[in-house]
Amino acid sequence: MSKMSVPLTKLDIPVNRLTVVCRGCLAESGEMKNIYEWGINDDYFRVTAIETSRRSGISELLCSSCEAALISCKQFQDRCQLSDKILKSSLSARTKNKTQKTNRNQVTCVLQNKRLELQITAPKTDARIRLPCPYNCEENFFKKSDLQGHLKKTHNLPDNFDINMQYYCSETTCVYHVNSNKKKWFSGRKFLNQHIKKVHKTKSFLCNDCGLRFSTETDFQRHSKSCNYVFLCRICDVKYNTNEKLMVHLKRKHPTNQADSKKSFATQIPEPITNDVALHSWAPKDYETKTDEISTQVGFEDLLIQRKLKLVLRIIRTCDGTTIFQLKALDCCPVRAFLDIDRS
Ligand SMILES: [Zn+2]
Ligand SMILES: [Zn+2]
Ligand SMILES: [Zn+2]
Ligand SMILES: [Zn+2]
Ligand SMILES: [Zn+2]
Ligand SMILES: [Zn+2]
Repeated sequence: MSKMSVPLTKLDIPVNRLTVVCRGCLAESGEMKNIYEWGINDDYFRVTAIETSRRSGISELLCSSCEAALISCKQFQDRCQLSDKILKSSLSARTKNKTQKTNRNQVTCVLQNKRLELQITAPKTDARIRLPCPYNCEENFFKKSDLQGHLKKTHNLPDNFDINMQYYCSETTCVYHVNSNKKKWFSGRKFLNQHIKKVHKTKSFLCNDCGLRFSTETDFQRHSKSCNYVFLCRICDVKYNTNEKLMVHLKRKHPTNQADSKKSFATQIPEPITNDVALHSWAPKDYETKTDEISTQVGFEDLLIQRKLKLVLRIIRTCDGTTIFQLKALDCCPVRAFLDIDRS
């Protein structure tokens, strides 16, 4: 006991009273609990590192304020140990994440005070998902209940410890992606797989201008930038969906015309023109003059006025610098019509 700086003072109480004082603060009165009978002797030993024995003849009592101190010490110890594990597992999860590929099923453990969050991204809808132990003990489980049992047995986590399975979509632009700020996920794999099938495998992004469907928002956005535009080589009547592709074609097939066409060719794509603009400028003017046309033409006009007919404007840029505006009815419509307006 060389570390003790305060000299020990002997208790001024009778020996027969030594078994009824508080082990913590030596109080002689107040509410007391027997540490063995109340099952707090293990915690007392863990926190104080003092060996206890029922046959020592030393008091087995602890007063209520010392018990409260013991409980908060115990909680502090538990909290520090759990935090330590969280910190260590987050550190290794971060280094692991960097090397993982996004098209694989993957699970990220987020360990919290009373629960474990498993963030699951599973683009492979059939592959079984291995649930790793958050404490890096190289164990993994197919069932949540098996992981729960392991955490209880091996890592002494309490009975009420909750494992929360969060299934995320692997499409980076989806609101169900783990990095989306919408904080949305599926509670079951079944729901995630339904979502993948319904939203990403059936092409659910519809381009209203041309009727094409896309399975991802990224594909759709890429398409919508050039949807209305067709790039045409007038010499051999080949169409391209980007200006760049037409330029490559011109370079390869018509190298002699290249210098000329480059000068006159507009390389910038202007702002997309919406369907509505095309209808306003074109429909009312022609409606008057075409009422006595053949019946299909009248039917076409009626559908157009009632807005039942979907017209799209195609802008054709040719290699000689001409722009052609082409109005086209959507393929699904009963009447087809084309109107070319040549502008030189
Ligand atoms: Zn006490
Ligand atoms: Zn703290
Ligand atoms: Zn483990
Ligand atoms: Zn999704
Ligand atoms: Zn389109
Ligand atoms: Zn050509």
